[in-house]
Amino acid sequence: MKKAINIRIFGRIQGVGFRPFIYRIADKYSLNGWVLNTNQGVTLEAEGTEEALNSFSMDLRSELPAAARIDDFLTAEIPFRGFSDFRILPSMDISDEITEICPDIPVCEDCLRDIGQQERRKGYGLVNCAHCGPRFSIIKALPYDRANTSMDEFPMCPECKAEYEDILDRRFHAQPVACNACGPKYRLWVKGELVSDDMEIITSVASEVITGGGIIAIKGTGGFHLACNAFNPEAVSNLRLNKQRESKPFAVMFRDSWSLRKHAWVNEAEETALNSWSRPIVLLEQKQSSDDIKPLAKELNDGLGTIGVMLPYMPLHYLLFRKLHSDAIVLTSGNISDEPIITSNQEARASFPGIDAGIDHEREIVNRLDDSVTRVLLGKLRTYRRSRGFVPESICLNMDVDGILAFGAELVNCFGIGTKKSAILSQHIGDLKNQPTFDFYKESMSRFMDLFRVSPGLFVHDLHPEYLSTRYAKDLLTGHASAGILAVQHHHAHVASCMAEHGLDEPVIGIAMDGTGLGTDGHIWGSEFLVCDLNSFERLCHFDYLPLPGGDQAVKEPWRTAVAALHYAGIEKTGFSGLAGLGIVGEEKIRIIQEMLVNNFNCPLSSGAGRYFDAVSALLGLCLHAGYEGEAPMKLEAIADNSVKLEYRFTIGETIDFRNVFTMIMAELSAGKSPGYISACFHNTVISAIFETAIRISRERKIVKVVLSGGMFQNRIILEGLAPRMERAGLEMYIHEKVPPNDGGIALGQLAIASAWREKNER
Ligand code: ZN
Ligand code: ZN
Ligand code: FE
Repeated sequence: MKKAINIRIFGRIQGVGFRPFIYRIADKYSLNGWVLNTNQGVTLEAEGTEEALNSFSMDLRSELPAAARIDDFLTAEIPFRGFSDFRILPSMDISDEITEICPDIPVCEDCLRDIGQQERRKGYGLVNCAHCGPRFSIIKALPYDRANTSMDEFPMCPECKAEYEDILDRRFHAQPVACNACGPKYRLWVKGELVSDDMEIITSVASEVITGGGIIAIKGTGGFHLACNAFNPEAVSNLRLNKQRESKPFAVMFRDSWSLRKHAWVNEAEETALNSWSRPIVLLEQKQSSDDIKPLAKELNDGLGTIGVMLPYMPLHYLLFRKLHSDAIVLTSGNISDEPIITSNQEARASFPGIDAGIDHEREIVNRLDDSVTRVLLGKLRTYRRSRGFVPESICLNMDVDGILAFGAELVNCFGIGTKKSAILSQHIGDLKNQPTFDFYKESMSRFMDLFRVSPGLFVHDLHPEYLSTRYAKDLLTGHASAGILAVQHHHAHVASCMAEHGLDEPVIGIAMDGTGLGTDGHIWGSEFLVCDLNSFERLCHFDYLPLPGGDQAVKEPWRTAVAALHYAGIEKTGFSGLAGLGIVGEEKIRIIQEMLVNNFNCPLSSGAGRYFDAVSALLGLCLHAGYEGEAPMKLEAIADNSVKLEYRFTIGETIDFRNVFTMIMAELSAGKSPGYISACFHNTVISAIFETAIRISRERKIVKVVLSGGMFQNRIILEGLAPRMERAGLEMYIHEKVPPNDGGIALGQLAIASAWREKNER
């Protein structure tokens, strides 16, 4: 006897070839019925024997397309209606709810083969199919159909249309389907003049430019990249001038993992990450140069032991490497300094007058995306910059965050919106103090609200009243009269972000270590030992406050913090001339800072762990002026001699007293101890301080769950040093995976705290 079932599926199922996949399985078991996309997910009805229906349901879950993910699968038996075939019905827009939008997917093997073999797609750089190609970057509205993407300008040719409509074709319902005849084209520009739209010529010229030491702009998935030969020091230095980026490391794209392995250590988890369909930048330990292998330009990542690498993901990358003699190119975001990555063709041509050539394409980028940045630590992939390949995948929570809009932090901003029990975090936005970045923030926020149909009922922002994100929350509130507004302390948000990722809502020991965040006492915090749940926190301990001579200026100039740290330790001497760091600064400048400290003039207090790392980094002469956020701590991490197990004495009272640490560092410097030795001792000291404080709190409060967050936990030495000690002591350590530990994760913590607040206040 035949039966009928209705199945509703939720998850990442739109834009990954899901309906054709269902069709083919229905066909396999001779079922009749229909399937359709709604903005809730996928709904289908199937009729057949009980046995066939069971096999069908099982295959649906076990043979998913690569980029698909099922969160919910609801089956109900319904009356038999007697369909005569199985059909894919047109999309229906049935409610205000939405399903997931798929992140952009790298080109698949089959499509790469097509550009070599298929006549209509010979060398077609924007080839794609139902399993690969652009997704979020081209989407304007839901449901995900061609009319709602930037491909709407390109009517399909009869052949593409036939593929699009052929259920047995790999391009069936592939929304961006295109070919040489009908699709957007790549174009080569030299000195502002259009030179060619022929892929052979484009890749040949690009290869010549790169080989000759030149710089080329290349339009990618989520924005423009700037590229040059990663082995050519002059080209890399020249790229820095063009980007107005002094020292921040550049990412490198390698031809393949085989050539990559000559230059970096790659373990299994890292290999998996590099080849995963998110295709992120992965930070790897760089190999020491050897005589038989040509070294990468040291200008890429001067002073760091790690290098950010990725593998090709767009068809053009593969076509380019076929022509190139070099195994690696710099591929860095096409922007000026702190501005957002450029997406428009006109702007790209206008912004980089000094470069040699540009390759753009006619497909409009609707949603701007940088490459994502990840690192494998403690065996798992951690996300540091969440953008292409990850956004806008939602993060499933165990709490209701519906209608909450989280404005994020200021410097490494990312905002978030809540729908039901999902947090949808924006792509990496950047430093809001930069005007174009702030415009990007506002645009993206309104796009996200439209796209995900959220009309916010609760705004949540950082406690800092001067953050541009805070001010914007207050501005926007005037247009949403009925919405509530809530301020959340920065480090509570950090810890809550990690708690939300792990589904924790009981009291935990929260340790937040970062550079800066406003505390409830009006000082700057950043080494916080909290006992908290999602409703409230108690601050039990922190590193001693350091005065910051000149406030923000001290953040940019770590040598000022070094002088302040010595003042804090009671070292007021002059005569630093023999020392690597302060010796270079000069006595006169140091004396001025010492006077500011003595008179307590413009010296706000900060407990930021990052400032301690700044001070030590400057004392060792590694970084006196920071060219980018985190430069001083990263350089300190890079040189540490891991064989050194010693540490400096410190004391834990109401605060953690590190005065002796600076006294010891000065003594060791005078005694000629190496920077690598001192850095290792300092790292070991911080590990012990964190561990011993956590143990004390754990005994006092009978809590074993320890939640770590904040940018300092991107430091490999600290994490790998803490993990085994925590484990031996019976503490359960929780760290970030999907969400950045830095301020890019703040929005998730804000959502979680706002959810708890709303629940408590509505009761
Ligand atoms: Zn494909
Ligand atoms: Zn076509
Ligand atoms: Fe922070």
